[in-house]
Amino acid sequence: MAILKVEPLTTARALRGPFDYRRPAAMEDLEVGSVVRVPFGPRRLLGVVVDFADASELPLERLAEPIEALEAGAPPELVGLGLWVAREYCSTPSRGLQLVLPPGTGTGSGRPTRAKVELRAEILPAGEAALSGGERLGVKQRAALEALRAGELSARELASAVGADRQTLRRLEQRGLVATRDSRLRRAPGGAALTAPAERPRLLPEQQAAVEAIVAALDGDAGAPRRQLLHGVTGSGKTEVYLAAVEAALERGHGAIVLVPEIGLAPQAVARFRARLGDRFAVLHSALSAGERYDEWQRLRSGEASVCVGPRSAVFAPVRDLGLIVIDEEHDPSYKQEGDPTYDARAVARRRAEVSDAVLVAGTATPRPESWLELPRLELPKLRMPPVHLVDMREADPRSGPIHPETWAALEAVRVAGTKAIVMINRRGFAPWLNCRSCGHHWSCPNCDVSLIVHRHSGRLVCHHCAHVEVAPRACTECGSTTLSRAGAGTERIEALLAERLGPMPIFRLDSDTAAGRGAHARILARFGEAPSAVLVGTQMVAKGHDFPEVTLSAILDADATLRFPDFRAEERTFAMVAQLAGRSGRGEAGGEVIVQTLAPNAASIEHASRHDSAGFLAGELERRQRLHYPPYSHLVRINFSAEVEARVETAATGLATELRRTLPEGSELLGPAPMFRVRNRHRRRVLIKADDREATVGAVREAVESRAADRSLREVSIGVDVDPQ
Ligand SMILES: [Zn+2]
Ligand SMILES: [Zn+2]
Repeated sequence: MAILKVEPLTTARALRGPFDYRRPAAMEDLEVGSVVRVPFGPRRLLGVVVDFADASELPLERLAEPIEALEAGAPPELVGLGLWVAREYCSTPSRGLQLVLPPGTGTGSGRPTRAKVELRAEILPAGEAALSGGERLGVKQRAALEALRAGELSARELASAVGADRQTLRRLEQRGLVATRDSRLRRAPGGAALTAPAERPRLLPEQQAAVEAIVAALDGDAGAPRRQLLHGVTGSGKTEVYLAAVEAALERGHGAIVLVPEIGLAPQAVARFRARLGDRFAVLHSALSAGERYDEWQRLRSGEASVCVGPRSAVFAPVRDLGLIVIDEEHDPSYKQEGDPTYDARAVARRRAEVSDAVLVAGTATPRPESWLELPRLELPKLRMPPVHLVDMREADPRSGPIHPETWAALEAVRVAGTKAIVMINRRGFAPWLNCRSCGHHWSCPNCDVSLIVHRHSGRLVCHHCAHVEVAPRACTECGSTTLSRAGAGTERIEALLAERLGPMPIFRLDSDTAAGRGAHARILARFGEAPSAVLVGTQMVAKGHDFPEVTLSAILDADATLRFPDFRAEERTFAMVAQLAGRSGRGEAGGEVIVQTLAPNAASIEHASRHDSAGFLAGELERRQRLHYPPYSHLVRINFSAEVEARVETAATGLATELRRTLPEGSELLGPAPMFRVRNRHRRRVLIKADDREATVGAVREAVESRAADRSLREVSIGVDVDPQ
């Protein structure tokens, strides 16, 4: 095989390989996945060997040779998976391959020696947007972020690679998008703070049956399904089943991947895996430093570790002889990547399991309609669930505020009994609106079409969509009046109301404001756990990843908030949220109850959740999806347009929509463009496509989008494609 097929690693969408190179005699040991530096016109690029061939369309003497081969490379068995992601999610081969390359490829960050700059953007909501392009970043800032995407670099390396000077770095650092750290620090990933017992508890009969079914699949028994849904409420023992299945895979000489929604929200589960698996355990996630990530990656690649636990990106972990993939909380939206490529780790897991003949287990208390429809089920025991009491807020006296008298009564009872309560509301901050009572002036974000949120602790008005912050005014900026009204409620206001009425009982607030620092989330939960009697108030975070038997009351104050999103998954999300919160109450001997305040007591999701009826909800939801031609009965592709100039977005969106109406395959339906909206000072429009034939539709969209890559009139418009949008 004298010819190398090389896919360049580049951000340019139009540059698409693979390109042919001659294999030099000195590079006999190259394999699929090897990284080489190649001449490309006047430039030098890094590229990945994706295939070999005996002949090229070009004469051999006209082909160039790689300049050098790098030490690092992607595992050959994962190169196909990276390219599959690129095709399936309308991305570029380069972006797909980046997912399976060792962290820091081509940057020399594998052996860090001095202070390095590392990318923090991936773990911030605002950073995702910055990375996916289109935000207000200078050319150098953007180039620096792109370079750091592949791994950390020293300031000097960054300067020579993309010309980013100190000022550029300082700006990025101020925005929180990058951080500088001393790379001589310890590289073993942290998390030792939490310990968990290593002994194996006795399995219940249902757990035992589930483990046996998975083991039968691992042994390749005829008739044992290769993919299974493990359905069980919180506390029914799913983690023990995963652990037993992973141990069975290890005994058979296989490795395993365990996907968890967000590592920060699953400290208890991660600690259990670490305690039971010891040295065989590795963890991969974006909160690790680049050096730590590199080390964990190498431990897996070398076979030193065989089990990888991590969030969505861990689906690409280089686990050897993969035999089992577990997806915990498989309904969780964090399995979908927002930036390009917009992959869904659940779909990638399925593909990877198929290709490597591994067994797939998806576990959840609230299955997605598609999984319910497609996967054979393993049922864990039904636990005694707490009664759910629906409180109809349409009939409530508006003067009684965001907490209904019935909810207050239940909270008072918790205080008297000396137990604990969890209170959830879907919005952080103090109040979602600030208005002037005299002239009606309303404070909204100068960059986005949304209201500014009042944050009382910081004395600021904050936009939850962009980084805009201003000092909260004492008087109206329009008329000078001092009668300002802070309407509505967020976590801060509820915290204040609870403290006022229930004090001195401690109130702990858990939302992305209080849990921002490293370890803050676990600390708040620990303090709530240690207090003899307390209330935990917060956003959806309070419904995830913990287990406190002393909780006798869960209350959700705005159960219909998620229903108001214009999203076909709104019902599914709402059901999952209410069911998850209900599962947090009454876990101990004392029993418990659940209060659901809502303006929509008759919504299917809320009604079924109040009866703990997954099967009933899913039957109705699947019927609705079929009628409306939504997944799993179709595929969705969303195209996002954005630009600073409104007219440019208009031209691009309507032009592309018109073309696609002509070129989309039979069975596709194009909706939109939807109305214009503005976020982070950019005008945005969306087009949605419902499709029967996914491959042909993605193909048509790719062609239409890429034909515009060279169009100078659209240069300032960013066009993003999201396949299977959430
Ligand atoms: Zn006013
Ligand atoms: Zn804003």
